[in-house]
Amino acid sequence: MSDSSTKCLIIGSGPAGYTAAIYASRANLYPILVEGMQPGGQLTTTTEVENFPGYPEGVTGPLLMEDLRKQAQRFGTDLRQGMVTSVDFSKRPFKVTVDDGSTITAETVIISTGASAKYLGLPDEEKYAGMGVSACATCDGFFYRKRTVAVVGGGDTACEEALYLSGLAKKVYLIVRKDYLRASKVMQQRVLKKENITVLFNCNTLGLFGDEVVEGAKIIENKGTDKEQIFDIAIDGFFLAIGHKPNTDIFVGQIDLDETGYIVTDGKSTATNVPGVFAAGDVADPVYRQAVSAAGMGCRAALDAERFIMEQS
Ligand code: NDP
Repeated sequence: MSDSSTKCLIIGSGPAGYTAAIYASRANLYPILVEGMQPGGQLTTTTEVENFPGYPEGVTGPLLMEDLRKQAQRFGTDLRQGMVTSVDFSKRPFKVTVDDGSTITAETVIISTGASAKYLGLPDEEKYAGMGVSACATCDGFFYRKRTVAVVGGGDTACEEALYLSGLAKKVYLIVRKDYLRASKVMQQRVLKKENITVLFNCNTLGLFGDEVVEGAKIIENKGTDKEQIFDIAIDGFFLAIGHKPNTDIFVGQIDLDETGYIVTDGKSTATNVPGVFAAGDVADPVYRQAVSAAGMGCRAALDAERFIMEQS
């Protein structure tokens, strides 16, 4: 347990955090970056990233994040493992407490804590947590080789997870609540072409069942219409891919958040309503949510922090 201070503290280690760290280090802000529970963020649980510029053949999420981390380290970022448990933005320098009990005081803070997977809110998701329920196909897909699984959601994440699982599992159901997939055209085509993926449109999950582990899901189709029907599917794994919630719980009451919990920035820059606190990446971006846009925002946040410090001196 030790206390330290920095010109720039970065909270979170996704593409936004590491990019901010690269820029802040090169600007001699000697940043400290607290990496959080999942160093590398959401991309460490994804498979192939095909849309990050500079990788014509694609790159795996974990490798991309490892490269970004190494690049931040190369320029001297002080990378620290741990979770920030509380922040005090009421006066400068800001004070942040880490879960090992240490405190960090900082002239500027860049928040890049990202977002986490959402769940449907069914009691069965908790009941079968780790026993067939997962929000990460790349983490847990291996356990379902030659088995049958379901993925919930109709966006790019759901399609990506379904495709990944289709390479391991015998059969994949994709449970989509509307009558169309929201995912990009290319992902839709890949999913619809895949022989072992069955898309269940207009379907919602009522619950899961099984003795100790998941053995099936109860599905309702065309809910509230005269075509409504309830049926069971036999599955061994149930994967959630229905979007994300920004990781902002520790900032409630400290900075302005919108009604869904995203950090509000001033639009022209990454500034929050607290001078000296900046936000970058998914935690402040409910619209684009891409690795490259998060990285771009991380760069802007570091430049904003540098400018802020210059203006104060
Ligand atoms: P999205 O918000 O795009 O999609 C969420 C999906 O889950 C939607 O189909 C939504 O249904 C469904 N959903 C939400 N809540 C529920 C619920 N309670 N019950 C059932 N279904 C529900 O999230 P994603 O995580 O898929 O994507 C986020 C962003 O990241 C997007 O911009 C996406 O393009 C991008 N992305 C890009 C990738 C890539 O390019 N390789 C990979 C993954 C993500 P409905 O349509 O009815 O709202």
